[in-house]
Amino acid sequence: MTAVPAPSAVGRDGSAAACVLGLDIGGTKLAAGVVDGSGGVESFVVASTLAGEGPARGLERLFKLARAAVAESGRDSSAIVGVGIGCGGPLDAARGVLIAPPHLPGWRDVPVTALAERAFGVPTALENDATAAAAAEHLYGAGVGARNMVYLTISTGVGGGIVIEDELYRGAGGNGGELGHVTVDCGGRECRGCGRRGCLEAYVSGTSIAERALEAVAASSAKSSLAVFGDALTASDVSAAAAAGDRVAVAVWHETVDALVCGLTSIVNLFEPERVVLGGGVVSGTGEQLLAPVRLRVRAEAMQPAGETVAIVQSALGEHVGVVGAAAIVYERALSGDVLSHG
Ligand SMILES: [Zn+2]
Repeated sequence: MTAVPAPSAVGRDGSAAACVLGLDIGGTKLAAGVVDGSGGVESFVVASTLAGEGPARGLERLFKLARAAVAESGRDSSAIVGVGIGCGGPLDAARGVLIAPPHLPGWRDVPVTALAERAFGVPTALENDATAAAAAEHLYGAGVGARNMVYLTISTGVGGGIVIEDELYRGAGGNGGELGHVTVDCGGRECRGCGRRGCLEAYVSGTSIAERALEAVAASSAKSSLAVFGDALTASDVSAAAAAGDRVAVAVWHETVDALVCGLTSIVNLFEPERVVLGGGVVSGTGEQLLAPVRLRVRAEAMQPAGETVAIVQSALGEHVGVVGAAAIVYERALSGDVLSHG
């Protein structure tokens, strides 16, 4: 068993600042980057996942991308003291195994940390990608200084991460913090992510916003500027049309805000966080159009004093959050003295 050295450790090449390789396995995109102990991104490269080609080809592409990231950083590979991998669940973080992520069909029981350790010769950590992103925002981004923080990423799906008293909360097997599957309408819309009904994700994910808008266009007798998009309609088309006053889009946008306020109010009541950090493509694409009403209403609707004291802010790490998050897990586990892998 090997423990990763603390972030201040000297690299194997003798350089003063060691660094970590962060790898992010998404359903459509792979990302890799070299990240220093302050969360600084020294390199960042992306490639298509092509998940349908299976895990062997996918990981081959990921590891090739990782080597490209090291080369781009200008670092000698011996400066890399650990590898962090972020991926959607379900996964077994302790054993380093992807169990059966729905966004990677056919990737069942993949021992991804063992394979990465073989490829790079350093301790490797695996974490749920939203939990990893929460760690990144907490250590280096919009959550710095908050001892209790909730992170919500709103993109194709909705993921969450929880920090309690400066420590990540993972649940028994590393699959806790699934805040996208908090129920906002008992018996409501079917959730693509988990199959239940009425989850937050079924209303506010980018996919769900577009789906609800298409349904609203079909059901409405009013003319809508959204009709021209057809199946290519996206959440950002809906938010833009709502901002321009399109009545169908405004109604869909109100429903989106209602659902997010409902879910976040429950989450704030549950955790009384000092800060809620919102990230993901839907949030970066709409910004204050989404945040401003959500901030006002959660503040008013949550139980007090939790509602009055929580700050609801936008992610600071943007597109780098996956890679910085994967690296943050290595630094975070090293800081807490955890053993990283089964080496
Ligand atoms: Zn769900």
